[in-house]
Amino acid sequence: MERVYNFSAGPATLPESVLLKIQEECLDVNGSGMSVMEMSHRSFHFESILNKTKQDLMDCLSIPTNYEVLFLQGGASLQFTMIPMNLLKKSKSLDLIHTGVWSQKALEEAKHFGTVNIIATGESSNFREIPTINTDNQSNADYLHYVSNNTIYCTQFHSIPIEHPTLVCDMSSDICSKPIDVSKYGLIFAGAQKNLGIAGLTIVIIRKDLLDTKDLNLPSMLDYAVYAKNNSLYNTPSSFAIYVSGLVLDWIKEVGGLEEIARINQEKANLLYDAIDNSKLFFNNISKQDRSTMNVMFSTLNDELDERFIKFALTYKCDGIKGHRLTKGCRASIYNAMSIEGVKTLIQCMNDFEAQFLKENTHV
Ligand code: PMP
Repeated sequence: MERVYNFSAGPATLPESVLLKIQEECLDVNGSGMSVMEMSHRSFHFESILNKTKQDLMDCLSIPTNYEVLFLQGGASLQFTMIPMNLLKKSKSLDLIHTGVWSQKALEEAKHFGTVNIIATGESSNFREIPTINTDNQSNADYLHYVSNNTIYCTQFHSIPIEHPTLVCDMSSDICSKPIDVSKYGLIFAGAQKNLGIAGLTIVIIRKDLLDTKDLNLPSMLDYAVYAKNNSLYNTPSSFAIYVSGLVLDWIKEVGGLEEIARINQEKANLLYDAIDNSKLFFNNISKQDRSTMNVMFSTLNDELDERFIKFALTYKCDGIKGHRLTKGCRASIYNAMSIEGVKTLIQCMNDFEAQFLKENTHV
């Protein structure tokens, strides 16, 4: 068996120790005599797993007690619908910072339920820059939506862009990659399949006052209050995915918590961006201050050569670096579970490819 360095944007690489733990507990988890996949979600054993995962997430992100953690399904994409359904209460409008595909999708869904006011957009730079936010553009919106890390365009907010009483953030691709101040937000949501586990689980962290949805007449499965009241067990949850997230949170603790995770993530990003900036062949045209620490875009600016590099990288066991179909080129996703060794291997591979290319193309 030979594992690759998996730079996929998500589902993404998991810590090897987590995979081994899953293997070890496959026939018997916590002395229950069965795997978590076979276990009733109403059993004592599963409720302990769910409660532990929830508490570990609260500890990891220092989530204040006036917040509820919900384990949902339907991907981060269902949140584009649930959020406006649950939060548009007074003005029936929301402010939105437009930074690419994922804010566009949120915008389109929110339009079914209210008015969307775009307070800043990165369109003019083709989303290569995080837009400047003009506070004068703010309205009396029920909430403000933004995406902290733009998985496709590879840009990231390195601090909270603007304060709002109900700040909503899509943290699908950078949750638990660094410490954050949860108290600044009304709602945070994220699919688990990048930094926190596997597909099938969406995590919602919601301030408790926002759970007052009784006047909205919402269908039960789309009502945050129903999930909160039932400890995310209104119906069968994605039990295996919750269990895996619990193991990933144990791993984050073992590594040293979010401060240490953030330090390692920054080190990986610095190594890779330095290699790109020092290269004569590979380029990254994202504004330096807006570059993502999670998804790193690079290209030779020649589609055919990029394709050749992607094939070459496989010989170094570097997989999953083909860029998104919109942005083309290459993209290396270096989430929490990607090792420094993996990033160094990719850099070596880039250097060797470049040297080979320059040799072939230098006529003396
Ligand atoms: N938001 C962001 C920032 C994402 O990167 C993604 C998935 N790549 C989504 C939302 C959608 O997630 P899902 O596929 O879980 O619905």
